[in-house]
Amino acid sequence: MQKLLHNLNPEQLAAVTLPAQHALILAGAGSGKTRVLTTRIAWLIQTQQVSAAGLLAVTFTNKAAKEMLTRLSAMLPINTRGMWIGTFHGLCNRLLRTHHRDAALPQTFQILDSQDQLSVIKRLLKANNIDDEKFPPKTVMYFINNAKDQGLRADKVDAYDANERKLVELYQMYDEQCQREGVVDFAELLLRTYELLSRNQPLREHYQARFRHILVDEFQDTNNLQYNWLKLLAGHGSRDGGALFAVGDDDQSIYAFRGANVGNMSSFEREFQVKNLIKLEQNYRSHGHILDSANMLIANNSKRLGKNLRTDAGHGEPVRVYEASSDLQEAQWIIEESKSLIAEGASRSEIAVLYRSNAQSRVIEHALFSAGIPYHVYGGQRYFQRAEVKHLIAYLQLMDNPHNDSAFLRVVNFPTRGIGVRSIEQLQAAAEQYGISLYAAVPYVAGKAGSSLAGFVKLVEGVRFETQQLPLPEMVRVVLEASTLLQHYQNEKEGADRIENLEQMVSAATQFISEEGFGQGAPAYLGPQAQAQSGAAVALGDGVEVLDADAPLAAVMSPLSAFLSHASLEAGDNQAQAGQEALQMMTVHSAKGLEFDNVFITGLEEGLFPHESSSKEDGGVEEERRLMYVAITRARQRLYLSFAQTRMLHGQTRYNMKSRFFDELPEESLKWLSPKVQANWFGNKKSAWDMAPMSSAGSDNAIAQKIAHASGPGWRIGESVSHGKFGEGVIVNIEGGGGNARAQINFGQYGMKVLDLSIAKLERL
Ligand code: ATP
Ligand code: MG
Repeated sequence: MQKLLHNLNPEQLAAVTLPAQHALILAGAGSGKTRVLTTRIAWLIQTQQVSAAGLLAVTFTNKAAKEMLTRLSAMLPINTRGMWIGTFHGLCNRLLRTHHRDAALPQTFQILDSQDQLSVIKRLLKANNIDDEKFPPKTVMYFINNAKDQGLRADKVDAYDANERKLVELYQMYDEQCQREGVVDFAELLLRTYELLSRNQPLREHYQARFRHILVDEFQDTNNLQYNWLKLLAGHGSRDGGALFAVGDDDQSIYAFRGANVGNMSSFEREFQVKNLIKLEQNYRSHGHILDSANMLIANNSKRLGKNLRTDAGHGEPVRVYEASSDLQEAQWIIEESKSLIAEGASRSEIAVLYRSNAQSRVIEHALFSAGIPYHVYGGQRYFQRAEVKHLIAYLQLMDNPHNDSAFLRVVNFPTRGIGVRSIEQLQAAAEQYGISLYAAVPYVAGKAGSSLAGFVKLVEGVRFETQQLPLPEMVRVVLEASTLLQHYQNEKEGADRIENLEQMVSAATQFISEEGFGQGAPAYLGPQAQAQSGAAVALGDGVEVLDADAPLAAVMSPLSAFLSHASLEAGDNQAQAGQEALQMMTVHSAKGLEFDNVFITGLEEGLFPHESSSKEDGGVEEERRLMYVAITRARQRLYLSFAQTRMLHGQTRYNMKSRFFDELPEESLKWLSPKVQANWFGNKKSAWDMAPMSSAGSDNAIAQKIAHASGPGWRIGESVSHGKFGEGVIVNIEGGGGNARAQINFGQYGMKVLDLSIAKLERL
């Protein structure tokens, strides 16, 4: 035990060893909150105050949960498999699988990621002839999710006008549709579990009695439903509920736009009459200049719970600030600085480039690519969200639950098998008429349409039968073959990548099986009876069956179901995965909780960071400032800030002022760098903050005209091109116009070239 606690400061030690009572650990970034939480779990188990089964911990991402398990197994000689440590979604998934009957779900229910959810909504609108301009699918989706996040079903939502009444009606229809298909969206996972526990007293009491300790990381970002879920599980209001231990930082609350309610921190303190409030003020992550910058910045926010951060680490390097003439030059500067960091011995994975908006990444990616620096972009399209992978997943979903209409529609005619739009419409009409799934409605469609649809059903049934007894990776392999997806992509231009991604699924399944502890042998799935025999299930009164908390996932769901939930939950995860020897690129949101030796925060311009949308909302700028605080506090040793005078975003050149955040940083901690390369093609260098927006008269207009003119016929700055001799490059500048236009192009290893656009044979990439 000595070893477990010896690296903690007095406040951390106090927090780790608090008695079994509710507690709130309120502390700034890098003060060891996550470390305290993990150590407390280990300490509670080691001192035998609770068994591994009697404890539940919630983290924000799957990755954070995994890391916590890894750290725990390093601290304690226990098997962490089966412990209730996960994300809200992951834990709810597990509860709902275990109690699917009480939750009125099929055991094989499937999880919709947000992409799937949107397509269900689109389908619903179409089937009901609803104008999707008046009710854009995304608006409908936000409305539904928002209501669910507040814990409200359609019949509980107040509608004030005809428009809202329609939205409520759609919400109701959507829920019915999902229920018919046996699918649940992310918000539903939580709401369904909440309802299950609040309605089912024996079950609720069982879990309240079991979980003596409930621990939550990143508490500031919980939404109302999550907070109520925790209240329920911790038996708030009952005499013998468990102890809720929450750690958080109000200054890092960055998910208000998704319904997070930082007010939960004060509600918790009040409603649970929290006596143990501990603040951690020692920062172990960042050097002094970095921390001073973070502290001074966040002091500009008005609504704060109030705490400070100090460090013993010394000032370290000043924060380097760079003003670039364009986003391309900004990217170039990042490359140069990264190169020198790497030359000094920095590991690439300890360099993170952060940006406010995903759209910024492309230019930087190109620059990195040209410079031959390996990089990894997070938060963009994830593996499980790629079109080809989703197709294969849809086939797999049909193996498990053929009534999933989304899966059915995705692949019924992909690869094409002659099932046209008309046939599908007929099928949808039949399904509508009988209130059944598309799959079940196939026998009701007559004629040629009917027989081709029946052919598809036969294919699904055949593969299902064939794969029933196979271990998951083999099953994936057989389904992949039978789907003929591979043949389909063989004939496609970019097919090779897709084929590789598809084949990856077999490895993904193999890895999943071994990580989650599913037996390799067939049949791997333990049916409910087998569970009872193995003693994994404990029967409560009233026919309620509760599984032992140590029961692995294998006891509550088939490997296929588990794998498919994993795919959906992973697709919804918004966080980076570290560990690769590549430079890390991600949005500030996805960097939450992480740390790197070297951090670049890019695009620090008004309208971008703080984001323009923030000026429209109450408290919007304060949320952006918290986001900036999160960004700054990711850095251990070196921090770089940059902004560009012009930036091409969403196809438009923007002229930006530098971010107001620069005025909120301590001047003595900053080191302003002058541009290394004077690649300023305006001729005269002009600072961004002297420049008015485009609409104003004068020289700015001249610049605007020059850009409009120089963009010439077709080519534009920032575009990627390919050249017969020099390979791939990026246009960094265009001069002249018409037949005289010349482009300056960065060809990476061939360097910068100026080419006459009317002569050079360039191809667009
Ligand atoms: P964030 O708010 O960003 O989530 P946090 O408060 O959760 O940060 P941790 O990630 O737990 O902070 O810790 C930050 C860093 O400081 C980690 O590298 C951690 O190992 C280190 N650390 C924490 N406490 C100590 C300590 N007492 N001694 C040495 N290092 C520590
Ligand atoms: Mg943390």
